[in-house]
Amino acid sequence: MSAPETPAPEDGTGSSLRVRGLRKTFGDLVALDDVSLDVERGTTTVLLGPSGSGKSTLLRCLNLLEQPDAGTIDLGDGPIEVGGKLPARTVRAIRSRSTMVFQQFNLFPHLTALGNVTLAPMENRGLDRAAAEARGRELLGKVGLAEKSDAYPDRLSGGQQQRVAIARALAMDPDFLLFDEPTSALDPELAAEVVAVLADLASEHRTLVVVTHSLAFAQRVADRVVFLEDGKILQDGTPEEFFSSTDERLRRFREVIS
Ligand code: ADP
Ligand code: MG
Repeated sequence: MSAPETPAPEDGTGSSLRVRGLRKTFGDLVALDDVSLDVERGTTTVLLGPSGSGKSTLLRCLNLLEQPDAGTIDLGDGPIEVGGKLPARTVRAIRSRSTMVFQQFNLFPHLTALGNVTLAPMENRGLDRAAAEARGRELLGKVGLAEKSDAYPDRLSGGQQQRVAIARALAMDPDFLLFDEPTSALDPELAAEVVAVLADLASEHRTLVVVTHSLAFAQRVADRVVFLEDGKILQDGTPEEFFSSTDERLRRFREVIS
C-alpha cells in the first residue's frame, strides 16, 4: 500500500465541507429538509437511515448530480449558493472536488480495468497516456488488483469491479470521496474486500462520506455517524453517541438493521 499523494492534515483543523440549509424536493415530496452538515477533512462520515430517508439525495446534492432547491456548500473558499440554476463553471468547480462511487460500480464495459481508471484523468485533466497509466497501475495495486489491469469488467467479480471503481475515483485526486452503498450489491465475502479498501483509505485520513446499512462498518471505521429520517438529520455525532443513543427511532433502526 503506498502513501496518499496528497496527505490531508491529521489534526482535523478547519471544516473542509460545510453544508447549510440544503433543501431538495421532488414535486410535493421533501427529500431533504434544511440539512446542515460539517465534514472535517481527513475523517470518515457514515450516513445511516431508513430507506427513502434522503441519504442518496444528500450525497448526490453534495456534488450536484442532483440540483438542490436551496442551500449553501462551502468547500473552504466561502459558501456557494447551490439553490436554483448554477453557472456551468460553478458546477464544474464543485464536482471536481469530489467523486462518487456507486452501488452498481458503473464501470465502462468496453474498457479494461486500467482503461476505466485512466479515462477521466486523460480526458478531463489532460494527463498523457503514459502518466495516466503509471498512476492507474499504482492505484490498481493499491486496491489489490495489480494483476487485473488488462481484464474487462465482465471477467471481474463484483468486489473486484467495485475496487476498480474506487481506483477510478482516486485517480481524480478528489478532496472528498462519496460512496453510495458501495457493498450492498455484493456477497458478504466480496463486500469484505471492499470494506478493507475503505478502511485503508480512512486510515490514510482521506475524507470519506459513506452511505451504508452496515452498522459494523459504522462502528469500525466512522469518525462521525449522521442519521437521517424523512429528509432531516436526527442525530449527528460520534459512533459511540449513535450506538448508545436512547432515542426511540435510533434504537428501532439499530434493532431492525442488525
Ligand atoms: P435513500 O437513499 O435514503 O434510500 P433517497 O435519497 O434515494 O433515499 O430518496 C429520498 C426520497 O426522495 C424518497 O422518498 C425517494 O422516493 C425520493 N426520490 C429520490 N429520487 C427521486 C427522483 N429522482 N424523483 C422523485 N423522487 C425521488
Ligand atoms: Mg439510497
